[in-house]
Amino acid sequence: MTNPEAPSSEELAELRRRYRLERERRVRPDGARQYLTADAEFGYYADDPYAAEAGERAPVRDRVDVAVVGGGFGGILAGARLRQQGIGRIRVLEKGGDFGGTWYWNRYPGIHCDIESHVYLPMLDETGYVPEWKYSPGEEIRRHAVRIAEKFDLYADALFSTSVTSLTWDETSQAWIVTTDRGDKFRATYVITATGTLSELKLPGIPGIENFEGHTFHTSRWDYGYTGGTPDGGLTGLAGKRVGVVGTGATGVQVIPKLAEDAGHVYVFQRTPSTVDVRANRRTTARDVGADRDGWARERRDNFLRIVSGESVEDDLVADRWTSSAGLLEKLLPSFRRPADRRAFEAAYEIADAAKMNEVRARVERIVADADTAEKLKPWYRYACKRPTFSDSYLQAFNRDNVTLVDTADTHGIERMTERGVVVGDSEYELDCLVFATGFSVGVSGVHSGKLSVRGRDGVQLLDAVRQRGPRSLHGFTSNGFPNLIRLGAMQSAPSVNFTHVLDEHAVHAAALVAAAEAEGAVIEPSREAEDAWIAVLAEGAPDHEWFHAECTPGYYNGEGRGRPNAPSAYPHGAAAFHDLLKRWREESMDEVLKAGQAS
Ligand code: NDP
Repeated sequence: MTNPEAPSSEELAELRRRYRLERERRVRPDGARQYLTADAEFGYYADDPYAAEAGERAPVRDRVDVAVVGGGFGGILAGARLRQQGIGRIRVLEKGGDFGGTWYWNRYPGIHCDIESHVYLPMLDETGYVPEWKYSPGEEIRRHAVRIAEKFDLYADALFSTSVTSLTWDETSQAWIVTTDRGDKFRATYVITATGTLSELKLPGIPGIENFEGHTFHTSRWDYGYTGGTPDGGLTGLAGKRVGVVGTGATGVQVIPKLAEDAGHVYVFQRTPSTVDVRANRRTTARDVGADRDGWARERRDNFLRIVSGESVEDDLVADRWTSSAGLLEKLLPSFRRPADRRAFEAAYEIADAAKMNEVRARVERIVADADTAEKLKPWYRYACKRPTFSDSYLQAFNRDNVTLVDTADTHGIERMTERGVVVGDSEYELDCLVFATGFSVGVSGVHSGKLSVRGRDGVQLLDAVRQRGPRSLHGFTSNGFPNLIRLGAMQSAPSVNFTHVLDEHAVHAAALVAAAEAEGAVIEPSREAEDAWIAVLAEGAPDHEWFHAECTPGYYNGEGRGRPNAPSAYPHGAAAFHDLLKRWREESMDEVLKAGQAS
């Protein structure tokens, strides 16, 4: 095994060659077009298995202060922060049957958050809740989402099992007209969209997928009626059954060990192995995290964000594999800070990356008994090419007699499906059930999907404006021509792995904007000059990730291997610095987006 602290230059050259081969083996000419969406004949894959039958209800026709599109953490936090600002009527509109978003839909066995719960669960200081595990099970997170919604009285005006179909700015009433698929048509002075980035499930476009006569479903719509059990396991319905799983990303890594506990046999159809690092989940107490101090959760969350944003901090409060991986470069080159010399930075980064990946591959070798299986489970790409995963039961599952790894890399995934099962190379695998852990289409939900029509001043369609002039905004949230519309999300702001933290900062910001507009009787709308200035900030010093992603194995991080053509630009100095900037701007410059009421 190689020296994890300092791979030699020969080793680095060999790794580069190996990574290139792996990428070439995996790139498909059809890129993102290889996937199917849950529309038309596949629409049933997206049905809500958790909601009671959405009965008839009278359409609403009133006016509210704020319509919030999306009832996941983004929408819940926006609602809660608006309440803290004293805003009266807030209507959350949600496709699912309750609040929770990602955690409403994803209830698959084994589901856990892969970010520490004490920094992932928002508003812990405000709700007084202290998570019971270092990494929460999904149900604890879903219940926390409901807890916040209840505490801030968001159920009162909420509409569930309802999708917004259009948003149209009405100059006369100075409000948005909101229509839905349940016949609603009402006005809202402000609209906040929080439609998520990973909410449209995708299916593999395997030839013959429609021919399979066994049972199938996507992990984000788990069919407990078929499998029995709960997210904790006990899938008694799978006893004696042959179960296939397509997908070995963050979801597959969590679900496969649970399937292995109860199914007759599990076939894991792998295309690209994940990096699987140590999890070390454990029960925690309030004392462990210092939850007796005011502001403990905020402090911990800020500490985590600064570390994963590449900043130096005195203490690492979370101290897990996210923070140690972020600190790797520092460890390797203690004097290293921001790259004055870009080449030196890239060289140092490559060494740190190789050391980390060597460690990850060594772990596979240590845990997986069968050498051939272990070899296939080793990831050959750079650490940041795909979302890292964490598990202390996934690799171990391959030591069980009832789990078979089927490597499909050479055939670009499963070749075809028959009535009986799945074909890879010369083998047909007969299955009773096939589970798709194949993830989600990125950035196609909500206002940029085209499914939700957004018309601003003079009837201008948001999508047309984006097509003609490119995405334009101030801080990612507001755009000229679209008054009182605030979009939460990663576009032109600053994302981070701890996305609920990011959403909370955005929600605080959105609520402050609404409160200021209310206080001044103004509308929220940045000038074109303010947009230009923000775009210049994004462009200046923007890290060029294109070269990095162009050499990565394909996945949703790099447009399935084609570089990052649709990547939204982000604030170049990281999420922590972005939040500092927003706070300063609110204190000093917020008036710049407030226009007199009847502006046009
Ligand atoms: P991903 O998109 O990460 O993974 C999809 C998987 O399906 C990949 O392994 C992919 O292989 C595989 N796949 C797709 N098509 C085929 C095919 N035709 N044949 C074989 N394999 C195929 O989806 P996930 O649901 O795992 O995760 C999505 C995101 O959700 C994560 O990146 C993470 O951000 C989030 N998540 C977060 C969790 C948390 O705890 N916070 C937990 C779970 C998910 P390939 O890599 O070769 O394309």
